Amino acid sequence: MPARPRLRRKDGETRPPTVERILAGRALLRGKLQPIEIGVGEDGRIVRLGRSLTGAPRHDVGEGVILPAGTDLHVHFRQPEPGPAAEDWNSGTVRAALGGIGLVGEMPNADLPVNTVDRLLDRQARGRGRLAVDMLLFAAAMDPARISRLAEVCGAFKLYMSPTTGISAEEAARPIAPLLAAVAATGMPLTVHAEDPREFRDSPPARDAVEWNRARPPASEERAVDELLASAPPMRLHVAHVTLPSVVDRLREAGVSFEVTPHHLLLSAKSGEDARFKTNPPLRPDAIRAELWRKYCAGEVPVVASDHAPHHASEKSEPFAKAPSGVPGVETMMPLLLHHVRAGSVSLELLQRTLCDLPARWIGVPAGRIAVGHLARLIVVDFRRDAKISRRPSGHAEGWTPFDGVSAIFPQEHWRGSERIVEGGEYVGRRVGEFVRPEYAPEASSGLRPALADAG
Ligand SMILES: [Zn+2]
Repeated sequence: MPARPRLRRKDGETRPPTVERILAGRALLRGKLQPIEIGVGEDGRIVRLGRSLTGAPRHDVGEGVILPAGTDLHVHFRQPEPGPAAEDWNSGTVRAALGGIGLVGEMPNADLPVNTVDRLLDRQARGRGRLAVDMLLFAAAMDPARISRLAEVCGAFKLYMSPTTGISAEEAARPIAPLLAAVAATGMPLTVHAEDPREFRDSPPARDAVEWNRARPPASEERAVDELLASAPPMRLHVAHVTLPSVVDRLREAGVSFEVTPHHLLLSAKSGEDARFKTNPPLRPDAIRAELWRKYCAGEVPVVASDHAPHHASEKSEPFAKAPSGVPGVETMMPLLLHHVRAGSVSLELLQRTLCDLPARWIGVPAGRIAVGHLARLIVVDFRRDAKISRRPSGHAEGWTPFDGVSAIFPQEHWRGSERIVEGGEYVGRRVGEFVRPEYAPEASSGLRPALADAG
């Protein structure tokens, strides 16, 4: 964050910006909470910062703290329109807004994998007018011959090394080197689901989360990451939902971006026996979880993402072996970690870096920092409002959460440009979220090594 006088001089004299709205409050500046006024321009970007701005309606957030809205690189909102699925883009993006997330990365494993330009354009057309927050659409990297055309439309690529919803075992078993090379040639970001099914041992079928951890053991994650690192050319690479401290070390050494999820940080295989605690990759033993959390608190993890995968409560109450994997989390991710900021185990700086700054930087979108030129996606948090998560935090939920009864701090306000879309914890905005694509050239994205160096 540049110093105020320099910004005032620079902006005031050389390029007077049109400020449409001023947000006044406290924000994290140069490592500590300080009073700040943020000038939001007509284009929805931050155009001025100072101690005292004038020339536009001013909103004082009082005791609240202003933070950049978060970027969640990993959600499964399924289909654009409401249907039989527990989630759709209407409900999912509202839950993101309520949880302080201003940009979501929507994964491409819908009923039909999103691996053609036609399917991407179709999803965009159906989704327009439904989005409460911005969305980046992932395309599935499944056929090297299609990658360059897809790169003109998608926001990023996803590669699956193990089968999942919409991705068959044969599709996941294809050689990865040609796909990695094809994506690298486009300069686009690539997220990889790194589990090696050759290490899966699900017979007899797992009956609880402890057995599920044995069925999809740590070795499957380690082996997949080893293969990935051995095959990937230099590129904008990111590994999804890392669960193991050993893999954190491996990826940091290689200078590769990665994410961990709130459930792998906060829940373990002992958290519960029923299928609400069935996720891919599995929840690990508590000693592994505790070490992953320690590494997060020490700044060794660049990105937290939710892997929001909602299922109806009725599906998750099936016997463990039959129930689908995945938990909802887009709405609770930032509130859970805000509670840990209040409790003193996570610094506000670390939260902003891992939920706001680094995820946005990795996809090359100027969000996630309170800085001139950045998108004005801002939230207001009142740290006195610590509360327990209830089964239906927003009324849009599918009726359950793995974090029932856990302490969290939900943002009071969420601003999208000069429009307030969440007020007093309620969604009050219009459906004007946009589809975004990387804005920086890979060379200008500050690269992954510097970003990781920043993180730790
Ligand atoms: Zn996922």
